[in-house]
Amino acid sequence: MTTTLQSVGLTALGGLLWSGYSDEVKASPLVLRPPGAIKEDDFLTACIKCGLCAEACKNRDTNIDMTTGLAKEGTLKMAKGGDHKLIGTPFFIPTEVPCYMCEDIPCVPVCPSGALNQESVSNDKGELDINKSRMGLAVVHKESCIAYWGIQCDACYRACPLLGDAITIEMQRNERTGKHSFMLPIVHDSVCTGCGLCEKACVTEKPAIFVLPNDVSKGIAGDHYVKGWDKKDEKRIENAEAEETTTELSKKGNAGDYLNSGELY
Ligand code: SF4
Ligand code: SF4
Ligand code: SF4
Repeated sequence: MTTTLQSVGLTALGGLLWSGYSDEVKASPLVLRPPGAIKEDDFLTACIKCGLCAEACKNRDTNIDMTTGLAKEGTLKMAKGGDHKLIGTPFFIPTEVPCYMCEDIPCVPVCPSGALNQESVSNDKGELDINKSRMGLAVVHKESCIAYWGIQCDACYRACPLLGDAITIEMQRNERTGKHSFMLPIVHDSVCTGCGLCEKACVTEKPAIFVLPNDVSKGIAGDHYVKGWDKKDEKRIENAEAEETTTELSKKGNAGDYLNSGELY
């Protein structure tokens, strides 16, 4: 009887631990990984949880406190139970310590498993280039960004290592006051690395600009849309025009005429 109860108890405990473990794995879609991290699903199996990336990050040159000569807290943490990430894998939280986009990217070459892919953060000459990293994408919540209210603030813009490229400021006339202008931060997804320095610098109580993993922050338009103004799509436009004779739209003129006519169907 006692043995049976013990077995039942152990099975229940095992089930509880396993469900806790799988919860940690399932709750990862919002996690931000180090530069060069491969696709999240593949990362979870490739990372051997050695912690070398986090160690290299902690010891990075840019992380030395000039007054004490000691290393400051690193950007990368290794997930523990309760972090809601696969335990033992590296991640970072921009509001605590963002990625400082070290030029020598010390966290990547030390990875022994390929979970951090050096090639993805290298330029055409094979040199490490942190600007190639895509840890995530910064997103601006316009309703809480005070620049969208008309208050002057460019903290995120100034904090960005790629200012003028990853974030630009768009000037817009403030019709309400008639004399001030809006200075709106605009993030460009083809350049933003997802380092989170803007999120850390944001002045609002909860950051109005924040980094999300690319899978979460980006939409997908679909391949069937053709950009009439894009050189790469010229051939597709020719093909579309050839095919158009068989479509309903062809009765109303070609696709270009239809889109530019201003008529609503
Ligand atoms: S590039 Fe970012 S994550 Fe890598 S060592 Fe530097 S601060 Fe740490
Ligand atoms: S160095 Fe690579 S394998 Fe080791 S913990 Fe970091 S990502 Fe995982
Ligand atoms: S995350 Fe923010 S600071 Fe970093 S590159 Fe993107 S816009 Fe710039």
